[in-house]
Amino acid sequence: MHIAFLGLGAIGRPMAAHLAREPFELTVWNRTGERAASFASEHSARHAKTPSEAASDATVVVTCMPTSREVEELLDGPTGLLAGISAGTVLVDCTSGDPATSRRIADRLEELGISFVDAPVSGGTSGAERGTLTVMCGGDSQTIERVRSVLEAFGERIVHCGAVGAGHAVKAVNNALLAVSIAAAAEGLAALAHAGVSAEVALSVINASSGRSNATENLIPQRVLTRAFPRTFRLALLEKDLGIAAGIARDEGVASPLTQMAAELWRAARAELGEEADHVEYVKLVERWAGVEIR
Ligand code: NDP
Repeated sequence: MHIAFLGLGAIGRPMAAHLAREPFELTVWNRTGERAASFASEHSARHAKTPSEAASDATVVVTCMPTSREVEELLDGPTGLLAGISAGTVLVDCTSGDPATSRRIADRLEELGISFVDAPVSGGTSGAERGTLTVMCGGDSQTIERVRSVLEAFGERIVHCGAVGAGHAVKAVNNALLAVSIAAAAEGLAALAHAGVSAEVALSVINASSGRSNATENLIPQRVLTRAFPRTFRLALLEKDLGIAAGIARDEGVASPLTQMAAELWRAARAELGEEADHVEYVKLVERWAGVEIR
């Protein structure tokens, strides 16, 4: 099975590594070409100079871009995906994208006989390395079955969420919950630090109680208390996900004051901390506002 993988970023690179082995034949493309060349030199893969070249002999094309906008931009032009891709191919978009753009892309591709599945992932870069990601799929069941072996190469749990766009919608809501729980945990721990309670003591209670979350169980102990703040998932991307979740709620006419407020807070955090900050660095802002360090 010939696979083209486009987008070797923080999560795309370890995902693609699982496809650089039998029964797959992998071709990679990345905007910054040296990253594709270095990937190909370390793995059993070829690297292509353009998206059209990568897609030219692929039966499945996988994209992993920051947003749906970049996926849509990949399609056109003399070196774009559509210049190389053939009818019968499936485009699997692992970007955490937005449902409306995905539906537009899927409609365009359908006219050319190309199927589309949105297949965003969760589990972080460590899950991508281990091949234990959860993959949320939107599309028709037959198409998902056709690409199941590709998804299973990097995913442990493959969930069909609904029609095209449904995978992206579920991913956005999941990440909105992540953002809210990081912010809420940071605010609570900052207040406790002010009141003289150490984060370690507070977390020993919270993590045995009903307030626990991935933020309190993993992110804060491993990244904040150690002051390590590794850069694995850019805050800018989580802010984008919150914006998608807030937009879905608005479009559906569902009252969502908490999501809208969180989207505004994270937008301000992105403006303050910049494009390269990690998502957990949001906690540094809370610390700054509170005038304490969570330790
Ligand atoms: P990165 O920012 O690390 O990588 C982005 C990738 O997209 C790079 O390959 C980059 O190329 C490429 N790219 C950026 N802009 C363009 C463009 N205009 N045209 C072509 N290629 C472009 O992002 P991640 O890998 O972290 O994330 C990718 C997707 O996966 C996002 O939607 C994110 O929300 C999602 N995700 C990320 C997780 C994580 O833990 N990191 C977890 C789950 C989902 P170049 O090398 O040239 O910059």
